[in-house]
Amino acid sequence: MRTTVGIIGAGPAGLLLARLLHNAGIDSVVLESRDRAYVEQRQRAGVLEQGTVDVLRAAGAGERMDREGLRHDGIELRFNRRRHHIDFPALTGGRSVTVYAQTEVCKDLIALQLKEGGPLLFEAEALAVEGAGTDRPSVRFRHEGREDVLVCDYVVGCDGFRGVSRKAIPASLSRVFERTYPFGWLGILADVPPSHHELVYARHDRGFALLSMRSPSVSRLYLQVPADTDAEEWSDERIWDELERRLETDDAWTLRRGPVTQKSVTPMRSYVHEPMRHGRLFLAGDAAHIVPPTGAKGLNLAIGDAVTFARALVHRRETGSDALLDAYSATCLRRVWQAERFSHDLTAMLHRDPGATPFDRRLQLARLDRISSCRAAAADFAEGYTGFPLD
Ligand SMILES: Cc1cc2nc3c(=O)[nH]c(=O)nc-3n(C[C@H](O)[C@H](O)[C@H](O)COP(=O)(O)OP(=O)(O)OC[C@H]3O[C@@H](n4cnc5c(N)ncnc54)[C@H](O)[C@@H]3O)c2cc1C
Repeated sequence: MRTTVGIIGAGPAGLLLARLLHNAGIDSVVLESRDRAYVEQRQRAGVLEQGTVDVLRAAGAGERMDREGLRHDGIELRFNRRRHHIDFPALTGGRSVTVYAQTEVCKDLIALQLKEGGPLLFEAEALAVEGAGTDRPSVRFRHEGREDVLVCDYVVGCDGFRGVSRKAIPASLSRVFERTYPFGWLGILADVPPSHHELVYARHDRGFALLSMRSPSVSRLYLQVPADTDAEEWSDERIWDELERRLETDDAWTLRRGPVTQKSVTPMRSYVHEPMRHGRLFLAGDAAHIVPPTGAKGLNLAIGDAVTFARALVHRRETGSDALLDAYSATCLRRVWQAERFSHDLTAMLHRDPGATPFDRRLQLARLDRISSCRAAAADFAEGYTGFPLD
């Protein structure tokens, strides 16, 4: 098989990239190791930054998102049993975020790709990227029980944190920056309308809690738990009781309970691989970087990388210049590190760290108080949450 851009992975990064290339008249082949149902049902992110919404719309993939997505003009910070609204449009000159699940973004992009785009092969596992330093990189893959080779002009590794593409960058050229956290998130999906119309981020002495949603009838809620927690140790009743404690307020707010349909624990990690390019192999999304989910940045960064690569390749076709492809890694990493900083700071401000002293806990509260009472601090937070610009 032969193509211009070989894309490994049909998550948000790979699917959007295939769509952007198709729109620009550049052919690609997407290899995805899992089957379609798995990719479409894997529960993950749900908050789309303003820039992501704009990109999906411009790519012709925003129709259902515009119909079913929930525009959010702010979030609520909760601490010391009090509630503080952060008004995004007022603080950022009109920006907002949209709640629309990653599963739905993927479904929309898969449907478009299968209808209008180039080949998207499910159950096609990339085994290795070869010749990244040459003009003809290739992907060795297994599909329908046979091994095959996809010869490309460029390979983009959109295969997530556990994919194979990052391994094709020689260790002598790689630098890894990493932090793991001693806690994770126990997340549930529940068939119950959200108990608040905005996302609620709660700092509590017992640990962090997040109230989120997937639709007007489905709630998504999270509890900070120790990193090695087994989700099955938590009965539904215990989860609701703990959520109630951590989200409690001095006013009449109450938590709506409902049937839990899914339960899992997500580890928390910050990770950046530099550079994001080696020869004609480019890394995009989780293949190159991971953020703790607190800042809702993972999916949005993946979208940003796909846009940056597509623009660079179109620029090359139109001008003959490799300048933007050469700048790909530096361009992406600038935004990645802003998202790493934002996600880390928000995680540190809201979670109970087992090693924290009473002094550290007072600092957390002072930071929250600052964002809740100082417009400049709130504006900085709102700009970070609604998203860093795609240069
Ligand atoms: C459990 C979980 C919960 C999360 N929750 C949130 C959240 O609440 N908010 C948030 O912002 N972010 C969250 N994230 C992060 C967010 O979902 C990711 O940042 C986003 O999915 C990144 O998109 P991607 O396309 O780079 O990678 P992925 O979505 O991981 O897609 C990679 C794709 O590559 C495929 N693949 C892997 N190896 C191969 C191979 N060898 N050959 C072919 N295909 C391969 C995989 O099957 C997958 O489909 C969460 C992540 C996880 C794991």
